[in-house]
Amino acid sequence: MLRFTLPRDIYYGENALDVLKTLKGSRAIVVVGGGSMKRFGFLGKIVAHLEAAGMRTEIFENVEPDPSVETVMRGAEAMRKFEPDLIVAVGGGSPIDAAKAMWVFYEYPETQFEQLLKPFSFPELRRKARFVAIPSTSGTATEVTAFSVITDYAKGVKYPLADYNITPDVAILAPEIAETMPPALTAHTGMDALTHAIEAYVSRMHAPFTDPLAIKAIQTVFEYLPASYRGDKAARAQMHYAQCMAGMAFSNALLGIVHSMAHKTGAAFSFGHIPHGCANAIYLPYVIDYNAKNAAGRFADIAKAVGLAGASDAESADRLREKIDEYNAMLGIPKTLGEFGVPEAEFKEKVANIATLAVGDACTGSNPRRTSPEDMEKLLTCAYYGTRVDF
Ligand code: FE
Repeated sequence: MLRFTLPRDIYYGENALDVLKTLKGSRAIVVVGGGSMKRFGFLGKIVAHLEAAGMRTEIFENVEPDPSVETVMRGAEAMRKFEPDLIVAVGGGSPIDAAKAMWVFYEYPETQFEQLLKPFSFPELRRKARFVAIPSTSGTATEVTAFSVITDYAKGVKYPLADYNITPDVAILAPEIAETMPPALTAHTGMDALTHAIEAYVSRMHAPFTDPLAIKAIQTVFEYLPASYRGDKAARAQMHYAQCMAGMAFSNALLGIVHSMAHKTGAAFSFGHIPHGCANAIYLPYVIDYNAKNAAGRFADIAKAVGLAGASDAESADRLREKIDEYNAMLGIPKTLGEFGVPEAEFKEKVANIATLAVGDACTGSNPRRTSPEDMEKLLTCAYYGTRVDF
């Protein structure tokens, strides 16, 4: 038996936030990140709409980028005190991911974080609350996915949590919120979305219901990301929808080792984080070369769908990889980890351990090519120095 799960409702387009006025509930907790949703007036609007629907509201704010286990526990505690029947998470991937995990600990306070590391083993949610997600960036698609990434800072590791129970009930895609993204964030999140769609399409778990969503997302990103990066409003809206389609695909088809590498390198180096989308964008061309060794036909399908078909599947995959190199350059994304600023000595010291962790990441199992720690170390080394992958 196979499964394809999405939120029950997706509201999108102009005035999509107005649906909040019609939602049922008595107490809504709004989970939000830093100040930008407040500054741009969206937080006030969301709270006003929920109150217009007759709900009491409370705000849980300051969820940090790459939310920690501690923040999740604090949020769950706030929920246990306030007892919301509606959780409304607003912002980039972080507050929505954090709120998904808070939801589990709110409904099941006795749960240990470690229990959630086993994918698709969560307890049954929705006994206390339903979940509404409103993304402010166009990339993670966490508003429609079964995933949440929580960081254990003590260990320097990002944990991707996965279970269809945390797929939100309602997603609201309000393009005016995504219009506020600065250019670098637009670039990183856009390439994250492209990586989701490509990894979902070539995944071992790809399916008849996920393939069309992945292909349409890839076509839309290639068409609209450049203009969106330059700030074009109509292109921003198209990217907001494209990243959501990519999310629908990868939530059900899962991902691959680009994400394994990004998860295990994002918080691994002492000089600071590598933003998730930026890490994916750096690794994607190297991983296409690696995976094309046994999934060239799937990459060729993608190349064909975006007008890059070559004389053979291998050539098509190659042209797709070149196109991604071009997009990265246009978007100001470095070509290598070295260029990004990862110190060479620290990289060499840590790469073997990171490779082992990356192979063990939840996203590795669905990658089209089986990956050993040795191959992973070679891949990371290629991505550090910009060497072509030929193994
Ligand atoms: Fe991602």
